[in-house]
Amino acid sequence: MHAFSVTRFTKFAGSNRDMDFKSAATIGLIVFLCSCKQQPENNTPLTDQSTNMNFNDPHSFARINEAVVKHLNWKATVDFNTKTISAEAEWTIEQQPGAEKIIFDTRDLTIEQVILNNEVPAIFQLKDTVAGQSFLGQALEISIVPSVKTVTIFYKTSPSAAALQWLNPEQTKDKKYPFLFTQSQAILCRTWIPTQDGPGVRFTFDATVKVPQGMLALMSAENPQQISADGMYHFKMEQPIPSYLMSMAAGDIAFKAVGKETGVYAEPSYVDACAEELSDMQAMLESAEKLYGKYQWGRYDVIVLPPSFPFGGMENPRITFATPTIIAGDKSLVALVAHELAHSWSGNLVTNATWNDFWLNEGFTVYFENRIMEAVYGKDYADMLKVLEYESLVETVNDFGKDSADTHLRLHLEGRDPDEGVSDIAYNKGAYFLRLLESKVGRETWDKFLNQYFSENAFRVMTTDAFIVYLNKNLIEPNKEKYAGLDINEWIFGPGIPANCPKIISVRFEQVDGEINKFNQGTPAAQLQTSNWSTHEWLRFIYQLPETISTDQMSALDNAFHFTGAGNAEIADAWYELAIKRNYKTAYTDMETFLCSVGRRKFLTPLYKAMVNTGQQDMAMRIYTKARPGYHYVAQNTMDELLGWQVK
Ligand SMILES: [Zn+2]
Repeated sequence: MHAFSVTRFTKFAGSNRDMDFKSAATIGLIVFLCSCKQQPENNTPLTDQSTNMNFNDPHSFARINEAVVKHLNWKATVDFNTKTISAEAEWTIEQQPGAEKIIFDTRDLTIEQVILNNEVPAIFQLKDTVAGQSFLGQALEISIVPSVKTVTIFYKTSPSAAALQWLNPEQTKDKKYPFLFTQSQAILCRTWIPTQDGPGVRFTFDATVKVPQGMLALMSAENPQQISADGMYHFKMEQPIPSYLMSMAAGDIAFKAVGKETGVYAEPSYVDACAEELSDMQAMLESAEKLYGKYQWGRYDVIVLPPSFPFGGMENPRITFATPTIIAGDKSLVALVAHELAHSWSGNLVTNATWNDFWLNEGFTVYFENRIMEAVYGKDYADMLKVLEYESLVETVNDFGKDSADTHLRLHLEGRDPDEGVSDIAYNKGAYFLRLLESKVGRETWDKFLNQYFSENAFRVMTTDAFIVYLNKNLIEPNKEKYAGLDINEWIFGPGIPANCPKIISVRFEQVDGEINKFNQGTPAAQLQTSNWSTHEWLRFIYQLPETISTDQMSALDNAFHFTGAGNAEIADAWYELAIKRNYKTAYTDMETFLCSVGRRKFLTPLYKAMVNTGQQDMAMRIYTKARPGYHYVAQNTMDELLGWQVK
């Protein structure tokens, strides 16, 4: 998933950005009065059978050492009227001698029936939720005997299923059909499919999905490119994936090819613009393959979702889900696609075993994303992105506190919602650690190591401990002198940003800083040298303007550069935040329109927060009342908390 900067939702740190991810932990804490002590089995380590790697997953009830899923045959009907999915999940399982039950993760599902081997009704039990950890949902325990090969669960989802976002036609761009999309990461797949919902369990799947006529359905699988006459769609995913990568979208969706193996899905009126914006996808794919080996998933397509998608992107295999706010008109925000594409190696191919090892997914991906951007757009461009990562990381560390355990790469999420682990630490501290490793041996040796890492561990899970063993054996030991004195534990198990963090200088940002100086010294806005600036330079410019800037100066900048009403969401957002802080009322009408039409959380948080912090709470509440129905529930959760909104 893409989150180029992140802060904890509870603190709303002084960041201009927020996490591009959910904060399900803000869903009301329900105190259960039962004495049930059921907990995920933390004491018996799970074993990945392909690698014999041991790990505990504190966020899944499944005991995969006893019985584990291997393949899913999913048959589902999507009902937009009731906002539910009725489905049967036929799981092919593998069990060890002595297994008496198989355990699935579920949350808010109505389980109707369970059948074994397609003929025998099973005895099953839906356990109580764990006190204080309702985000885990409920364990579904199904009794089995040694002859059981398949377990079929008949069930219905809840209209409030956390992974499912149902949009009315008015919430889409073309406003003709309703729209549905899913977001399963981190542990939300269990709200629409009963599954062993940990990143350490992989399975293949087939699916048959029925949606209303006139709609296209897509999944993390081989996908159709045209609407079917009867609303029936068949899917096949032959590469095993963990459940957090299960996805579905359905709506009035068109397809347009971009390259040989790449294409874009979007609402029909928008698909051409999206394909144009993402026209470098094929080049990105080829650059990525040149760096770290063959792309293993067949096609690579992107779906550009309606505006209420609360995140930047999600690396669902074969079909990245992306926010429409990347469509800037000048390709300046396509790093997000590079990020999701990079996940096809780091994350989707070599997968963090538990959410405590999240940096193995995201740190590698941010690193790899930047290498793709460098290959396609040049070093100066990639350097800007690195500097932005670093600045955001510093902000996050300051927010958490330099000694906070939440700034360790290896996280401690037991008993907590794994979404709390989504921060710049996993992403940017992770990437800078890898850059440090690279800097010691040089790019050639480092790239060879990474290539080997991806190919030897493809379709497997990785724990932090296993990675350290692998790293020592394959990189550090063979290059002992070059790594002399390097303490990797300081990075992985220690807090803050270690002193040996590589320093990056961006020549393009230095030029921007020079123009800001000129402006501060009285050069009129129109005379500043801003030609060929990308979004990143503009953001640098806006962020570095002095705190004391006057509304007259803002007005002069606005006249020269038309920030108010800008079509580029990144630039508009940065400008509106400054406008709120400086009480520059000229921008307020457009700011309100922006808040009512964009649902990406990283854009919403800084604006509402700025209103609260500058005593403009009334305006915040007035706008939020209007805009809230159009936001995704994870964005609602964050803003509810920020604004003290009482859910009625
Ligand atoms: Zn990511």
